[in-house]
Amino acid sequence: SQAPDWAAVRRDFPLLERRVHGKPLIYLDSANTGQKPAAVIEATDDFYRRHNANVSRAVHALGTEATDAYEGARRKLAAFLGVRADELVLCSGTTFAINLVAYSWALPRLKPGDAIVVSRMEHHANIVPWQLVAERTGATIRVAEITPDGELDIDALYRALTPEVKLLALAHVSNVLGTVNPVREICREARRRGIVTVIDGSQAAPHRPLDIAAIGCDFYAITGHKMCGPTGTGALWARREHLAAMPPFLGGGEMIREVSFDGTVFNDGPHKFEAGTPNIAGFVGLGAAVDYLSALGMEHVEAREQALLAHATEALSVIDGVRVFGAAREKAAVLSFLIDGAHAHDLATLLDLEGVAIRSGQHCAHPLLQWFGVAATCRASFAFYNTHEEIDRFIAALVKVRRLLG
Ligand code: PMP
Repeated sequence: SQAPDWAAVRRDFPLLERRVHGKPLIYLDSANTGQKPAAVIEATDDFYRRHNANVSRAVHALGTEATDAYEGARRKLAAFLGVRADELVLCSGTTFAINLVAYSWALPRLKPGDAIVVSRMEHHANIVPWQLVAERTGATIRVAEITPDGELDIDALYRALTPEVKLLALAHVSNVLGTVNPVREICREARRRGIVTVIDGSQAAPHRPLDIAAIGCDFYAITGHKMCGPTGTGALWARREHLAAMPPFLGGGEMIREVSFDGTVFNDGPHKFEAGTPNIAGFVGLGAAVDYLSALGMEHVEAREQALLAHATEALSVIDGVRVFGAAREKAAVLSFLIDGAHAHDLATLLDLEGVAIRSGQHCAHPLLQWFGVAATCRASFAFYNTHEEIDRFIAALVKVRRLLG
């Protein structure tokens, strides 16, 4: 298919027309949360204006419309991710998705002597749930280390996958370094050893074509708000046999077939894990987001972001005293950096006054920053709706604020 007209695509995002501090906004924080096209905002609005009702209970017309819209979003998202809809649990985001695996899969299974492997580059959402499980089961956590370029040390990882290891939790794409991990090869190795794999796809799904079934993992988590969708939407894909074997995480309405005081029969498939009224309007919006991204073509999104990344990497490298973190061979459009003699927060604060929104701090990845021996980094992250001109203005602003800081 033909590449989209990126200038027209950008005009789909109302927020990007804003000014901040009297300057045109340059939004370079999409790894944190993405901006929303009008189609997503309108789909959510339209649901509340014309279709709002609860799902799965009412037989009236609105109830049926709401259920169809919610289940329709599940089917769209499943097709987008390359999985079956009846294996896709809808939830509030990656954090919920990983906690669901931790509490429903890992907690009842792990024992003292078992081990969980997580990588050095994980987001706290893929560390802390495993620490909680380890504390309660007596299992231990092992860390798969990285190379100075910010890639996984694959040989060390495979050496760490000894018979005690029951679970491997790994980011598909690092939110700090942009590193794209070879999850397909790694999942194959893990599977050969009988190790269950949990892939955090938060930073992959928004930026590249995905085929989860081809990755061969056991669980894959995504979050909707980084892929043009509303906040509070996300999903966990799980192999059917895991979903069938796992006890429910939360109990309540929607997740049951029959309840009596003698016992309760749970619903099947993903619904068993969707207690209570879900974020229906949010998922309608996420369905629209998936339609939007599919119409752009994820291969075009990826190519566009790679071009922006190459431009920004090149432009940043000519600034004196700049240190970029992560030089993986395969990298998503994220640039973490520091400039000699300037604090990350000072840079970000002054850039904000120039209209440039970047993130500074530890990016929910304390162990990774500890490894690099820094207290914080600046992170500029790019999406297909950014422009080459914005990158030039970002670099010019960086040169200016750097001069201000002496
Ligand atoms: N994992 C990674 C790699 C992330 O970048 C994020 C979001 N910063 C999360 C997990 C958590 O996502 P959420 O807060 O949407 O659940």
